[in-house]
Amino acid sequence: MLTDSYGRVATDLRVSLTDRCNLRCAYCMPPEGLDWLPTPEVLTGDEVVRLVRIGVESLGIREVRFTGGEPLLRRDLAEIVAATAGLSPRPEISLTTNGIGLDRRAAALRAAGLDRINVSLDTLRPEVFRKLTHRDRLDDVLAGLAAAAAAGLSPVKINAVLMRDLNDDEAPQLLRYCISHWYELRFIEQMPLDAQHGWKRTEMVTAAEIFESLSAQFSLSDDTERSRGAAPAETFLVDGGPARVGVIGAVTRPFCGACDRVRLTADGQIRNCLFARSESDLRTLLRSGAPDSEIAERWRAAVAAKLPGHGINDPTFLQPDRPMSAIGG
Ligand code: SF4
Repeated sequence: MLTDSYGRVATDLRVSLTDRCNLRCAYCMPPEGLDWLPTPEVLTGDEVVRLVRIGVESLGIREVRFTGGEPLLRRDLAEIVAATAGLSPRPEISLTTNGIGLDRRAAALRAAGLDRINVSLDTLRPEVFRKLTHRDRLDDVLAGLAAAAAAGLSPVKINAVLMRDLNDDEAPQLLRYCISHWYELRFIEQMPLDAQHGWKRTEMVTAAEIFESLSAQFSLSDDTERSRGAAPAETFLVDGGPARVGVIGAVTRPFCGACDRVRLTADGQIRNCLFARSESDLRTLLRSGAPDSEIAERWRAAVAAKLPGHGINDPTFLQPDRPMSAIGG
């Protein structure tokens, strides 16, 4: 098991398959993009599957989420999903994506064993989408959502980030759209993980503001059926249900005490927290011919050293060197 010194057990593995992305979301990276990882440094499909297998078979990983960057940019994604689905015990398999290209691949991913999907959608206004992502791809994202639902990846979950003076007035409209399409919407507070280091607490749209904005148009009540547990979202029934909405107060209402996550970057580093200041290198071990047991031991040690929380609210907080796109959300 992957336990830390605060008694938490990591069972949820987030695997970043690439640091590249075809959008340039303002809360993530600058319009010109970033210096991507050199291809030889990125784990091959076989290397990813070996590490996931060690996690599942030897370390108690029960859920595997593929992310990025944009994981759909990996041509071998369906093969990686299929190999993961073949592990015993079979983990839950999910994907976090921006949805571009999903219209062509959703059915194949479902057939390969994908169980669930989260798609980022921050706005329904094409001009705001262009401004926020520096690309004109809103229709592609909406087509991807429809394809995911048609492929049986329901309920499709939508992740939305609100940014001050950009889309901070759009919460009710997004919720209405999601309810009408049977998508499950979650708002996430913007976190200090942007490559530009432009995040400012004073400009962040808080969970409380989001709740207030939604409450002006919907009746939100506690969702007693779903306990929060290790799940980051506080969920609410909308107008008595069954529709729900989630609000993830990652900064103002941290849930680190119940964290069950561990991350593997595209270049084979274990991060015990999104905000970790250090990493453990599994790629070098892997490529030097180390046995599974040695890799598992380093992985265990990495999780054992996990800090109690992200520390964003401490005066000494330092943003990690890697931006979100290179960590895996
Ligand atoms: S910030 Fe770190 S400890 Fe807190 S929930 Fe996220 S990964 Fe877990």
